[in-house]
Amino acid sequence: MDKRIYLCLAHMSGKEQDFIKEAFETNWVVPLGPNVNAFEEALESFVGENKRIVALSAGTAAIHLALIQLGVQPGDEVICQSFTFCASANPVTYVGAIPVFVDSEETTWNMSPILLEKAIQDRIVKTGKKPKAIIPVHLYGMPAKMDEICAIAEKYEIPVVEDAAEALGSEYKRRKCGTFGTYGALSFNGNKMITTSGGGALIVPDEAAKKQTLFYATQAREPFPYYQHEHIGYNYRMSNICAGIGCGQMTVLEKHIAHHRHVHALYEQAFADIEGITLKSNPAKEFDANYWLCTILIDPVATGFDYEELRVALDAKGIETRPLWKPMHLQPVFAHNPCYIDGTAEKLFNKGLCIPAGPFVTDEDVAYIVNEIRKQLR
Ligand SMILES: *Cc1c(COP(=O)(O)O)cnc(C)c1O
Repeated sequence: MDKRIYLCLAHMSGKEQDFIKEAFETNWVVPLGPNVNAFEEALESFVGENKRIVALSAGTAAIHLALIQLGVQPGDEVICQSFTFCASANPVTYVGAIPVFVDSEETTWNMSPILLEKAIQDRIVKTGKKPKAIIPVHLYGMPAKMDEICAIAEKYEIPVVEDAAEALGSEYKRRKCGTFGTYGALSFNGNKMITTSGGGALIVPDEAAKKQTLFYATQAREPFPYYQHEHIGYNYRMSNICAGIGCGQMTVLEKHIAHHRHVHALYEQAFADIEGITLKSNPAKEFDANYWLCTILIDPVATGFDYEELRVALDAKGIETRPLWKPMHLQPVFAHNPCYIDGTAEKLFNKGLCIPAGPFVTDEDVAYIVNEIRKQLR
């Protein structure tokens, strides 16, 4: 095969350029405008639950603004899922707070409710105060156990910032991921379910929260004829050009999600009789992943290769794969952070690969990928 198969490439509907052209023709080449408003409205009706949405320059910015609005201060602690991409935890450090890492459970690979509660209780004993927020993640689009996580959050009255950056369209108990917490973060980076080239959004509870988020995202300007500032603000608003891409992408969002699920179903069938390769699938009927990336665990004893050997072999065959995200508590930059770990994330990291699932991955590609994996078997 001469073409290379990538994990998840941006895929345009063709309508994106019309929205951008319109923005140029009407001179809305600024970080506000009709595309921004239309993109937010489309997202609001997509996620439902009467939530409001603010389009921002990145998903990382969305998490940062959530923490600011929750009043997280220097020296505070915030509980983060360890098994995630760094952008879940980095914004905690932007406000001078300390990420406290909690391990995953095996069914969803997301935050373990048992370790979450243990961490909260132990932090109260050790520091004399409660963590200021909890950041669960829906990794690879698989919903976390939100009922249990939210019940613990309510019991201790700690707000939840849901990192749904990889989970646009995923549902838990028929409700969209990102709508369970006080705040939810979405990402439209180039490799996510849909893209605005770069961008993100914060899902907020109501109109007042939307106003406040907009305020902080646009330099915290007070309503005066001159520039008056009583708070520190940020330049985090999405541009009307990027939002034009987003408007085009919203017309194919359902199609993209359906395609990712279709690719997953093909893998599921194809891997069913391969011993030692386990495809990650919804663990029960209340979970409905978008399968942003499909992931497999490899048992080296049964297959005769480990994840790195397979990655190198597939790379030579034009297939991009990537090890599962390296847990945050194993990252040198977070080496001294408190953590509540039972080894689950580390075990996954040492066994797993992300395999291609994006909109350019065809049925033939899946057959080719599975066949190449089969050829590596002992
Ligand atoms: C992509 C991602 C983010 C950050 O989104 P950006 O738009 O790239 O800033 C946050 N959390 C997770 C889990 C992600 O995968």
